[in-house]
Amino acid sequence: MTRCVIIGAGPGGMNAALYLKRAGIDTIIIEKEVPGGEMLKTNAIENYLGFENISGGDLALKMSNQIKDLGIKIIRDKVIKVTFSDKFKVECLNSNYDCDYVIVATGRVPRKLGIKGEAELIGKGVSYCAVCDGAFYRGKDVCVIGGGDSALTEALYLSDLCSKVYVIVRRELSASEDLKIKVKKRDNIIILKNVSVSELEYENSLSKVILSDGQSLAVDGMFVAIGGTPNFDFLDGFDIKTINGYIVTNDKMESNIKGLYAVGDVRYKDYYQIITAVCDGAVAALSIKEDL
Ligand code: NAP
Repeated sequence: MTRCVIIGAGPGGMNAALYLKRAGIDTIIIEKEVPGGEMLKTNAIENYLGFENISGGDLALKMSNQIKDLGIKIIRDKVIKVTFSDKFKVECLNSNYDCDYVIVATGRVPRKLGIKGEAELIGKGVSYCAVCDGAFYRGKDVCVIGGGDSALTEALYLSDLCSKVYVIVRRELSASEDLKIKVKKRDNIIILKNVSVSELEYENSLSKVILSDGQSLAVDGMFVAIGGTPNFDFLDGFDIKTINGYIVTNDKMESNIKGLYAVGDVRYKDYYQIITAVCDGAVAALSIKEDL
């Protein structure tokens, strides 16, 4: 029996653990891979206060070392199911854990286009985060794939740095009106509708994208913003409230299920950043402390 089980050792989960431990609340983290989550795939982080430039791997290691030094256990296991009777039961491949609170911090996996070259060009022209990697494309031409809020948010960010930003939308824009209006005001954002990327041209790094209508665009960077897939299959037994597949929380990070919290990229919110995940973790932990 532990007071709180945190599922996922990304920045949100680890910061929740830090705050819980310092508040004297018994907690463990269960992580199926290595601590760090999506951060581990980022070559250079330049927007996390306190570090001018740090790799995702190094930041993840610093965070997990701090957690381990505080005596918090990060258990390597895969959560299969969470159930509730008088307490939560977190069922894993190797063990089960009973607890009063669960914090879901399992993040989301950026959706991939699934075209040839995409995977090998990550860090060499292909990115899933403009705020993380945009600065490497200063003064260059880039494209953004997708027509939702994320794609237009990425395009606006990139338009301040890059020479030209093509937004490639497979059908129509589905983003909110305010974002569409902002994008329209930028001379260097070019929206191309009803087309998709069919091919990438590259040697060591990306040089061109070929579109389904035959056009080819010379770009150094392609930012894929076609949504993500949040990970919480293990909550199937709960009637959990979601929007677009993301867990809805209140401002204490609690879901519609009492005692079940969600932090970071798995929850529905506007800004999916390391710093906002860390913030969510602190809020969830402090809310649990207040609830005790
Ligand atoms: P989203 O709303 O699901 O939009 C995904 C976009 O990618 C759509 O244009 C979709 O096209 C396109 N797409 C999906 N699969 C594709 C594929 N294989 N090839 C090409 N295009 C593809 O995802 P999101 O923009 O990441 O937003 C996720 C959630 O976060 C939303 O609820 C959003 O409101 C929220 N969010 C809010 C803000 C903000 O308010 N500032 C910023 C970011 C995110 P189709 O329409 O044709 O399917």
